[in-house]
Amino acid sequence: MTHNVSKDDIARAVAVLKDGELVAFPTETVYGLGADASNVEAVRKVYAAKGRPADHPLIVHVADAVQLANWAGEIPPAAHALAKKYWPGPLTLVLKRNARVPDEVTGGQDTVALRVPGHPVAQQLLRAFGGGIAAPSANRFGRVSATTAEHVREEFGDAVACVLDGGAADVGIESTIVDCSGAVPTLLRPGWITPQQLEAVLGVPLAVADAAAPRVSGTLEKHYAPRTPLMLVEGDLVVELARSLVRQGKRVAALVRTALRPLMDGLVWVAAPDDAAGFAHDLYANLRELDQAGCDVILVEQPPERAEWFAIRDRLNRATAGSGEDLD
Ligand code: AMP
Ligand code: MG
Repeated sequence: MTHNVSKDDIARAVAVLKDGELVAFPTETVYGLGADASNVEAVRKVYAAKGRPADHPLIVHVADAVQLANWAGEIPPAAHALAKKYWPGPLTLVLKRNARVPDEVTGGQDTVALRVPGHPVAQQLLRAFGGGIAAPSANRFGRVSATTAEHVREEFGDAVACVLDGGAADVGIESTIVDCSGAVPTLLRPGWITPQQLEAVLGVPLAVADAAAPRVSGTLEKHYAPRTPLMLVEGDLVVELARSLVRQGKRVAALVRTALRPLMDGLVWVAAPDDAAGFAHDLYANLRELDQAGCDVILVEQPPERAEWFAIRDRLNRATAGSGEDLD
């Protein structure tokens, strides 16, 4: 993974965190907007910068699984097994919290979300800092996550002084979140690590959180959304629908998995990779580009039903929720 972060940059970021200020940093999923997780004032600044409601909890990032005990009250065998297999990596575990964890981090819940990121810059930062870094995705509340340092600057301008540039995030979508605080491990948010992979480690079926009863922000129905209304469309209908909308005088953007661009004025055409890993890697950058095209609608080709597309479908469904109704 290429990045331009020097030892001095890390030292400066650590000083900023210790000062109670915010640092945006790369992880392998998306960029995080980090604060010292044990400093209540610093954590409040994260909510203020994002415009995020205070009851939506943050993920605490730590350098390694040994640090779990500093934050979690109870670590069940399922959590140990998942941590052993997938950390460092794009997996977040929700565990019973211990008394030291500020309410500001947990949204007042009796659980805490923990992750050991694998990105080398996140690892260097966490090791140099020593403590936990509470970090949600580095985007304004409800908006498309940032997968480059450039995106972070687009979101926050000068409001976040310290941005570590670790290049484009590898995975491109947020971590898989598994709640291990109850009797049955439960999938709270799909991510690159699939339910099937988790079940292979757990040896038992994973419960899936009731989508109708969201507890937390990453699971709000409308989330990860560009400003332009977005519609999911079956592949063979994209061109037809685009044509008819353009005929009605609409400006149309399309995100498709074929490079064959139809000849049509008034159409912004972005070709995405046809494999799930490539598609996820580029997804948020593509949504930002399509949003900035200033069209009336974004048509997105419906992804395949296969397991590796599960988290991508989840993000696109949330990006679609509530949009599109001002089309006619
Ligand atoms: P974001 O960084 O924007 O992806 O947001 C962090 C996400 O972590 C939240 O939206 C929740 O989905 C999840 N999360 C953090 N803490 C908890 C917790 N204690 N219980 C359940 N989910 C959590
Ligand atoms: Mg987020």
